Amino acid sequence: IDAEGDDAIRMRTFDLAHISSDERDALLRRPVMNSGEMITRVKPIVDDVRTRGDAALLELTAKFDKAELTSTVVFPPFAADTMVVDPEVGEAIKIAYRNIRKFHEAQADRTTLRVETMPGVVCSRFARPIARVGLYVPGGTAILPSTALMLGIPAQVAGCQQIVLATPPRPDGSISPEVMYVANLVGASAVLKAGGAQAVAALAYGTETVPKVDKIIGPGNQWVTAAKMLVQNDTDALVSIDMPAGPSEVLVIADYTANPAFVAADLLSQAEHGVDSQVVLVGVNLDAEKLAEIENEVDIQAHALSRVDIVRKSVSGSLIVKCKFVEEAIAFSNDYAPEHLILHLENASEKVQFINNAGSVFVGPYTPESCGDYASGTNHTLPTNGYARQYSGVNTLSFQKHITSQEITAAGLKTLGPVVATLADCEGLQAHANAVRIRLRS
Ligand code: NAD
Repeated sequence: IDAEGDDAIRMRTFDLAHISSDERDALLRRPVMNSGEMITRVKPIVDDVRTRGDAALLELTAKFDKAELTSTVVFPPFAADTMVVDPEVGEAIKIAYRNIRKFHEAQADRTTLRVETMPGVVCSRFARPIARVGLYVPGGTAILPSTALMLGIPAQVAGCQQIVLATPPRPDGSISPEVMYVANLVGASAVLKAGGAQAVAALAYGTETVPKVDKIIGPGNQWVTAAKMLVQNDTDALVSIDMPAGPSEVLVIADYTANPAFVAADLLSQAEHGVDSQVVLVGVNLDAEKLAEIENEVDIQAHALSRVDIVRKSVSGSLIVKCKFVEEAIAFSNDYAPEHLILHLENASEKVQFINNAGSVFVGPYTPESCGDYASGTNHTLPTNGYARQYSGVNTLSFQKHITSQEITAAGLKTLGPVVATLADCEGLQAHANAVRIRLRS
């Protein structure tokens, strides 16, 4: 309740027609992530696990997760009593699993690309799974079996040999049964009961009991993200990561056809993630009455949520951006590069062709983001903070890498060899030129 006794939950409103380009730029910016400072803060934790292994991991888990463990890793077969879920939840997980698996199976690259670039010169490319992967499933403030599905299924489909799933334990030392249930479904080869920077360090370097991995994938808070950024720059760790992640975001574009209750529900489904969630509504030529209806719905629906205190904070930092034309709205969205983009527009599906930057797009009134978050088939681990400009969300190819290959015939080398020798001479690399000429002479 503010100073005037007003308890309304409202977004801030701007009109693209009445703001300068500097002000428009400011609307596109996210709150600054001070990654340099966070990396300095996680470094002692990462170094500790690297040098002291399991002993450090157990101490840090006691300190940050309040769980006193004697061992941090569980290997299959997982005990049945650690995976008991409500039958309805189990059924829902199975349906989600089937849809996500179907979509990610279709993404797997199982072909060999073969191109004869010149007669007798054949170049190929084929994919192989990344052998050992670490999946980070956040667990600090919520249990997230959905994230275990979104990371585990593409790893399984890609054929990764070792799948280590890391998630913070509960204070009693257990992992939520729903996450264990999914770990079993996706064929995890180990479950690491640790979170934060210490889990990332254990995955990157390995410990006496934690298997080292080649790539760490999955969202997390700023401790997790900073640790991922730190270890990927350490050539001793020899590990890669999916992408830097930040607080979750949604941008909704709505015109006169939009249902105000649906729009409000979509905005709030993002706002409840955390106080730092980014929520933007871009209204296309909305009249005052329609806008008021949406704002009213946001207020009413927000007050009915159990996470109303989180929503109150995230909504107060959120934006309504008014504009005249759909082209302006899409240009704004492309510049913002949202993690999630929802289109409440007339002929929404025809607008998708104009989207250049977004993690995942939700088209039309009956496509809530929640479906993609849980069970339609697409992945929910997506680029935030404007990284949708250059990163894709997690997908099956995140768990594969490509190898190229070539085979040249004697006739092919006769044509290509002189070209290569000329370029090698030009760069002063005599041994390179010799490797060709020695063959041409023979
Ligand atoms: P988390 O598992 O990421 O972090 C919990 C860990 O943080 C703890 O185990 C602890 O080790 C560490 N930690 C906390 N405070 C610390 C401190 N002061 N010093 C050192 N370490 C500390 O869980 P979370 O905190 O709930 O965060 C989850 C994040 O993941 C949220 O930001 C959420 O939005 C995001 N998320 C994103 C997606 C996506 O797909 N983009 C999906 C799910 C969750």
